[in-house]
Amino acid sequence: MPWVKEELCVGCGVCIDECPVEAIAMVDETARINDQECIRCGRCHDVCPEEAVRHDSEKIPEEIDANLEWTRRLLQHFDTSEEKRGLVERMKRYFAKEKKVAQQTIERLESLSEEL
Ligand code: SF4
Ligand code: SF4
Repeated sequence: MPWVKEELCVGCGVCIDECPVEAIAMVDETARINDQECIRCGRCHDVCPEEAVRHDSEKIPEEIDANLEWTRRLLQHFDTSEEKRGLVERMKRYFAKEKKVAQQTIERLESLSEEL
């Protein structure tokens, strides 16, 4: 999913003109991509003169931090170390499930790609 790094965007609007599904809007002179509308064609990334449209992979550290922050917030609802460790184990199982979903989705997409 492409995203706009705000500090690099100069608000030129080139990406908005190129987007085939009008998924980009200008908000406070910065391009903003609507995730629900975007069809992941990559044109905005290719045309941006400032390299402000970035790849998903750059958000990995940020998303990991958000997951840890989520877990820390949940931990506040538990009192004992045993309860807290129980929560951490459940979170680990949750993310293990997410990993399995991602792995199996990739396998299915590889099969889909071979059919095209
Ligand atoms: S093309 Fe790049 S710099 Fe121009 S508005 Fe879009 S994201 Fe911002
Ligand atoms: S990837 Fe394509 S559809 Fe998505 S915002 Fe960029 S130009 Fe629009």
